Amino acid sequence: MATAAEVAQLSERPEAPRQTTEFRTSRPQIVGPECPESPFPILLAGPVQKGFGRGGKELGCPTANLPDESITPISSVAKTGVYYGYAQVLPPKDGKTELCEADVRVLPMVMSLGWNPFYKNEILTAEIHIMHEFRSDFYGYNMNALVLGYIRPELDYTSRDALIEDIEVDKRVALNSLNRPEYQKFRADPHFDLSCTIPPQS
Ligand code: ADP
Ligand code: MG
Repeated sequence: MATAAEVAQLSERPEAPRQTTEFRTSRPQIVGPECPESPFPILLAGPVQKGFGRGGKELGCPTANLPDESITPISSVAKTGVYYGYAQVLPPKDGKTELCEADVRVLPMVMSLGWNPFYKNEILTAEIHIMHEFRSDFYGYNMNALVLGYIRPELDYTSRDALIEDIEVDKRVALNSLNRPEYQKFRADPHFDLSCTIPPQS
């Protein structure tokens, strides 16, 4: 298997396989072993950056982007594709925020590790969709994530509906897969700030 970082060294990106009806209808509802195995868990952290408006929110799936330098822990050991795990958004140090306590908990997430078309597919991006309704956007906030398993490869979509349908399946598969005792344990991992609170806003 070539890691994402190895593929980044090639002069040409391999084309993503086409999504097919057969793939869509035969997807498993739960993935990965009962207990996370090497290279998982993978720890990621960094400030949330503005993406390139590829329509995350329009697709019903906003994705918080990590900066390039925060991606190495996963791109150096894993291939491109869709992953699942937990993430936590941390309030700013000065304590001023629109977010509430429920927004800064450790929450389930799906992550896409892939090539950014904006940079002619030369730059890898890691984009995290947290399965939670946030009170507001959180650009610039620090985000911690623990990647615990792999869901599927990056695919090339001919229709927007097929993409939306696959994203919905990804979210369900992630929740099912995280809903096992050996995965649940990672909610309390020391990589997260478990005592995170929001001070009263003046
Ligand atoms: P961009 O192209 O800037 O990444 P998106 O449409 O993907 O735009 O929206 C991502 C932004 O939406 C995040 O940076 C974050 O501030 C906000 N956001 C709101 N809800 C969520 C969520 N559930 N998961 C991830 N990001 C969210
Ligand atoms: Mg995004």
